[in-house]
Amino acid sequence: MQRILRGVIQYRQTVRQELVEQFKQIKDNPQPKALMFTCMDSRMLPTRFTQAKVGDIFVVRNAGNLIPDACNYGHSSEVSCTTEPAALELAVKRGGVKHVIVCGHSDCKAMNMLFGLHSCPSAFDHTSPMDHWLRKNGHRTMKKLNERLYKGPKPLRFDSEIAPSQSFEAIIDPFDRLKAEDKLSQINVLQQLINISSHDALREAFEEGRLHIHGMWFDVYKGEDYLFSKERRQFVIIKEDTFEGLIDELHRRCDVPLGECPDIAAGQFTPG
Ligand SMILES: [Zn+2]
Repeated sequence: MQRILRGVIQYRQTVRQELVEQFKQIKDNPQPKALMFTCMDSRMLPTRFTQAKVGDIFVVRNAGNLIPDACNYGHSSEVSCTTEPAALELAVKRGGVKHVIVCGHSDCKAMNMLFGLHSCPSAFDHTSPMDHWLRKNGHRTMKKLNERLYKGPKPLRFDSEIAPSQSFEAIIDPFDRLKAEDKLSQINVLQQLINISSHDALREAFEEGRLHIHGMWFDVYKGEDYLFSKERRQFVIIKEDTFEGLIDELHRRCDVPLGECPDIAAGQFTPG
């Protein structure tokens, strides 16, 4: 706690005033452009590695960046009552957010645990909320990992029943460079896109084409961000020489504003 309190003092002495000014600027009109689901891992600092500013994005974090599928909540007459669907409703239906991002990462402890539970089912602890959370919401991801390991780097199908337009294919780790747990983590991100589309509250937004969901992945030890390209069917590193291609694809796929960065729009971005 001492470190936390010392951090607060440092914050007061450095960025506090600037932040307060930014809070005041958006006071009456906060318009976050995206909702990001990411892992609670302490190494995941999404506002740093996207350089997001005050008011830019909603962030929801949990162990393994999981969004429970609607069918996990029981019959359709029951309301999906946990943070994740509630956040989707708040951001998309009430807040008009048009982009939802799921961002996973390498060496994810939750994914490592999910992989471990699958490899050794007897390790499942019936008293552990974490084990239940992972097993209940991770079994589809595990199933797809098995398919990937069995078939090799061939396209995997991710099909959405509620929103067929959101279905896609993915080639996970085409050159087999990642360990199985990191393949699992990438598959997990993509499975969450399907899980998001299962929520009835978003049906209208999908049908009207005003909601777009994206998969991102962060390589912790290299500090590199990836975006899943539905056209290329794989995760593509986001860097200076891939940026334009990724933006072009987003423009083709999303007929809504992408929430442009002024620096990039003004041509101050220099590809390296
Ligand atoms: Zn994690």
